[in-house]
Amino acid sequence: MSAPPATLATTLPGEHVRIAVNKDTEPFWHAAKEGRLVAPQCADCGNFRLPPTPFCPECQSTAVNWVQLCGEATVYSFAVVHGIPGMPELTLVPAVVDLPDAPGARLVSNVVDIAPTDVTIGMALRVDFSPIADGWMLPVFRAADVPKE
Ligand SMILES: [Zn+2]
Repeated sequence: MSAPPATLATTLPGEHVRIAVNKDTEPFWHAAKEGRLVAPQCADCGNFRLPPTPFCPECQSTAVNWVQLCGEATVYSFAVVHGIPGMPELTLVPAVVDLPDAPGARLVSNVVDIAPTDVTIGMALRVDFSPIADGWMLPVFRAADVPKE
């Protein structure tokens, strides 16, 4: 039996991904639908927080500014998942990413279109958006070191 070709990481099929939107998270999802990555920043103390919460854990303020980010990120931590029940062929790389322009905030997402063995802590990523159920878009990340032509 020969080794199978390197499997690239992907996401769950979009139709299986359903999100719950509430008043605290809605701006995040509406921005994603428009291809923008945003993070909530406390309007009083400047603390970034993700996932979005009703009030600032630092100062308890409920005032928030939604800041548009540049879409760059780095891998803080990641896992490799080979197959899930019912989808044994699926390879996922769930990752926690740091967002350089939202210090302190971390996003849980997926790294896609890369062999899992090529993912490293600290590697540079760039956001992309992948369609999911009900017309929403899910932020995902790809390796950023692909040189631009
Ligand atoms: Zn605050």
